[in-house]
Amino acid sequence: MWQVVGQTRAVSLLQHSLERGTLAHAYLLVGPRHVGKMTLALNLAQALNCEAVERPCGECASCQKIALNKHADIQIIGLSQNEDSAEAKPQTEISINQIREIQHSSSLPPFEGKYKIFIIDGAEFLSSEAANCLLKTLEEPVDKVVFILLTANDRLLPATVVSRCQQLELPPPATGEVEAALCSGWGVEQLRAKLLARLSRGCLGWAILAASGDDLLQQRTEKLDRLLNIINADYEERFTYVAQFVALFRKNRELVQEILDLWLDWWRDLMLVKVGCGDSITNVDLEAILVNIAGGYNLAQIRAFIDSIQAAGEQLRRNANPQLVLEVLMLSMPRRKYG
Ligand SMILES: [Zn+2]
Repeated sequence: MWQVVGQTRAVSLLQHSLERGTLAHAYLLVGPRHVGKMTLALNLAQALNCEAVERPCGECASCQKIALNKHADIQIIGLSQNEDSAEAKPQTEISINQIREIQHSSSLPPFEGKYKIFIIDGAEFLSSEAANCLLKTLEEPVDKVVFILLTANDRLLPATVVSRCQQLELPPPATGEVEAALCSGWGVEQLRAKLLARLSRGCLGWAILAASGDDLLQQRTEKLDRLLNIINADYEERFTYVAQFVALFRKNRELVQEILDLWLDWWRDLMLVKVGCGDSITNVDLEAILVNIAGGYNLAQIRAFIDSIQAAGEQLRRNANPQLVLEVLMLSMPRRKYG
């Protein structure tokens, strides 16, 4: 059975193609982090190699091997799997060598299964040489070989690569669906499930990680504390924060995007509280603080800053100068009016 939660449209499309034998040679799964792209890709790999009638069964030897990442015909590449980076520097691009390797492997017949599946995680990080190399492979499809590209942002991929893939959107499911899945599938207690589902923005993978330990929730508290400090800081202090963020960005871009997402949720919550829609906020455990802080702003200020956060996130994804982007963002954060 398909294990991905809340993606009925994509699943039924794949199921139909499987039944009719009309699968594409390449898929592009588009959706935010932790939404279930990898789960769906592995499910598809299982379905293609499954030995049962109802595919994917999840129980045959082939399905189990794939679930354990031990199937010889399923290969996953991405940023973290870079074998040639001996130095400690984090890998920022998927290299042409990684693509050449799978290109070579795709020219050989399946080793133990029916299909060879190549999953490219974080396809937006393909270097331009790697993307060109991949394009050539996609232009000459090989029988019994399926490529599955996963991306959080398809706009960062060359249009030529996108056009060679069948694109499937994986929107975050309603938080109610994630909440129910956490309760039924992972035994999370109701109130905690509600908070985690909302914080996850519908991305079950994140919620499961957060439910399995307190680390992610602790990190969220630290990030929110820092945000509250910045809200109350003068311009000089804010520049100190800019320097810290820029250093963080150079080390870990994803983390800065996560912080911006958290800011977005926070300012969106302020707006919801302000217009009397407190029931829909994300940070359900911090409603009292939100109500208090919302009193210090008017709606136009909150809206404008939400736009600024979104613009900053987009600029960083497009490789704008982080120092400049973050300075502008910090300066545009509205100051609270008291009383
Ligand atoms: Zn199976």
